[in-house]
Amino acid sequence: MLVFKFGGASVKDADGIINLANVVKQYDGQQLLIVVSAMGKTTNALEKLTKAYVDQTEDMHGIFDSIKKYHFDILHELFEANDPVFDDVANTFVEIDWAIEDEPHDSYDFIYDQIVSIGELVSTRIVSAYLNKAGIKSQWLDVRGYIHTDNSYREGIVQWDKTRASISKDIPAMLQKGTVVTQGFLGGTSENFTTTLGREGSDYTASIFASCLGAESVTTWKDVPGILNADPKYFDDTVKFDELSYTEAIEMTYYGASVIHPKTIKPLQNAKIPLLVKPFTHPDAPGTVIKEDGFNKFEKPVIILKQNQVLLSISPIDYSFVSEDHLSGIFGLFAQNQVKVNVMQTSALSFTVCFDYYEERFEKLLRNLKQEFKVKYNSGLTLITTRHYDENSLKELTAGKTILLEQISRNTAQIVVR
Ligand code: ASP
Ligand code: MG
Repeated sequence: MLVFKFGGASVKDADGIINLANVVKQYDGQQLLIVVSAMGKTTNALEKLTKAYVDQTEDMHGIFDSIKKYHFDILHELFEANDPVFDDVANTFVEIDWAIEDEPHDSYDFIYDQIVSIGELVSTRIVSAYLNKAGIKSQWLDVRGYIHTDNSYREGIVQWDKTRASISKDIPAMLQKGTVVTQGFLGGTSENFTTTLGREGSDYTASIFASCLGAESVTTWKDVPGILNADPKYFDDTVKFDELSYTEAIEMTYYGASVIHPKTIKPLQNAKIPLLVKPFTHPDAPGTVIKEDGFNKFEKPVIILKQNQVLLSISPIDYSFVSEDHLSGIFGLFAQNQVKVNVMQTSALSFTVCFDYYEERFEKLLRNLKQEFKVKYNSGLTLITTRHYDENSLKELTAGKTILLEQISRNTAQIVVR
């Protein structure tokens, strides 16, 4: 059997969904499980809605209305007005009405997952209904009963044994009856609350299913020809890799290459299942294959940009040296506040850390740190990571920028710039 994952960009409009059906048609006769993300930029919009609700700002209903309009406009392009999918979608949105009815009292991360998850619940309703309409027998599956997580909201930790048991119990029989369409990015707790697996987590979902079902391969269909050495949004002359090893792919995602979610590779590597990254506009093109003996040839350095970074320096209030004791306390606070360190550097009197800016988590971390340390920070920075770099490429990458921190090893250079 095969696992496909379609990301937000591939289902951003009616044409995208029609194209998805055409891609799937080419795999007629194969057992197929399809993981779908929220459509277009829906997850970002739902994040805004969550914030508006928690802050009880006036734009809350406006944001929600435009999310609904976006989906219903697409529905009208794809279906007759009396199609039952309209009710399915409307009923799914009602969950948000319930969630935002009262004033917020739960934790931000909990509320986030209950609201943001609607993006995938809706997109899969639409895709599944459209596949059926296009003559491809499709079954909609609520992933929350299959991918079991703990209750770390916004970063659900998968409970593998339980997940494997649920998936292998029901899904093989379903696959015999037709294609299965399910939500990326979501999980469920033992109390039946919804969790999310971290932004861009749908790839990880695909890899969980593939691992539990012993899939032949996973294909993630993207708006790029495959894995490129750099993001074409920021760089002109990118090159595509035909093959990559699991190891290089893990390194790339660890440093923030957004082309695949960082947790995706491990389950595939353990089960030796290849991951294909292919363009949804050219389903026959070879794309990139990530596999055990993938051959890495780096004609150009791999470049990974992370925007919206904070660089924070922490020093003991009494001018004492930064000791192991301090460090263990500091790391404890980072872990507690779910702030992941991208780069760090210690000097005698300070410890400097670079991480992604998330307002809520950052404010809390800052309050905690300030109880024991002097803290200084810069925000709005960019972290450039480059692998297999050369002197010239480093110069080009940093030209005209102010370097705030630099860490260079044999294969990898990390530079924080403004
Ligand atoms: N829709 C989610 C996101 O945008 C998950 C995904 O796309 O993989 O983060
Ligand atoms: Mg997405």
